[in-house]
Amino acid sequence: MTKILITEFINQNSLENLNKKFDVNYDEKLCEDEKEIIKIIRDYDGLIVRNKTQVNSDILKNAFKLKFIGRLGVGLDNIDTEYCKNKNIHVQPATGMNADSVAEYVVSSSMSLIKKIPMFHNGTIKGEWPRTTIKSTEIKQKNLGIIGFGTIGKKVAEYSSKNGLKILAYDPYIKELNDKEIDAKLSSLNEIYEKSDIISIHLPLTDETKNMINKSSFSQMKNKPIIINTSRGSIINESDLIEAYNKNNISGFALDVFEKEPIESEFYNKIKPGMNCILTPHISGVTTESNIRVSDFIVKKITDFFN
Ligand code: NAD
Repeated sequence: MTKILITEFINQNSLENLNKKFDVNYDEKLCEDEKEIIKIIRDYDGLIVRNKTQVNSDILKNAFKLKFIGRLGVGLDNIDTEYCKNKNIHVQPATGMNADSVAEYVVSSSMSLIKKIPMFHNGTIKGEWPRTTIKSTEIKQKNLGIIGFGTIGKKVAEYSSKNGLKILAYDPYIKELNDKEIDAKLSSLNEIYEKSDIISIHLPLTDETKNMINKSSFSQMKNKPIIINTSRGSIINESDLIEAYNKNNISGFALDVFEKEPIESEFYNKIKPGMNCILTPHISGVTTESNIRVSDFIVKKITDFFN
């Protein structure tokens, strides 16, 4: 019987469906034990992971039978895809299955930050009643710059234009916008930095995008924008971001992803209670609904593959 190893959480119903067809070993804590994965991977035909399991060459060189890796989510930076290609291992992300969840996160955090909700909340719970000392604005007619205009970037544009935002999109791999439904203007990176009131990042982490948003990028931002990152932490230089906030070059930030996850004291000690910021533990793509869609999608793909 075909053997499948699952090293991170999966929706229960999807797991039950998988159990009917395959010999499944499910241990959602296994992602933390690379040595154990290296020891047992030789027995498995399929592997299902999220983003915590580092599917590196140490694991893959022992994966003698492995033919399929299912990724419960998107972003393949934790998988050595080059090695997989050479070993003819199919790598399957759940593209688009959590895009609505991420887009909702971007809309809600941009709304909260432009309204300075974290600052009002902080002042109010301290008994300061900051009704006139903190100024907030409306989101309508503001410019939203989207960096990386793929599945999620487009979904964010769709949601945000309904709230009256004007969309600028930067993606050098898109030459023109064919989708007439999306009301966005393809722009240069400079234009995004100069004109945006909110900047949301939707890039894959690659050699090209690592550290892409840095001191020099922040220095070009003219409207003190809000920065939202739900893609991967290392795309933004975190020290430069905090410095830009402290120098008033940006007016807030929402981070769902970090260079080091979980975040370490070196980073969180720089975050002060009165800051206009929202930090979340890599959850923008993980909701009850998306977990079902993502899990069902990968179960269907792995079933089709081995049939
Ligand atoms: P996608 O592949 O559909 O879109 C990525 C876009 O980025 C593509 O259009 C590509 O052309 C563009 N791009 C690549 N390199 C670029 C560059 N140097 N400059 C500008 N654009 C560039 O991926 P997606 O589904 O939209 O997801 C984007 C990323 O979001 C994923 O790679 C993943 O890391 C992250 N993500 C995070 C969560 C979460 O829970 N926080 C959930 C889903 C996805």
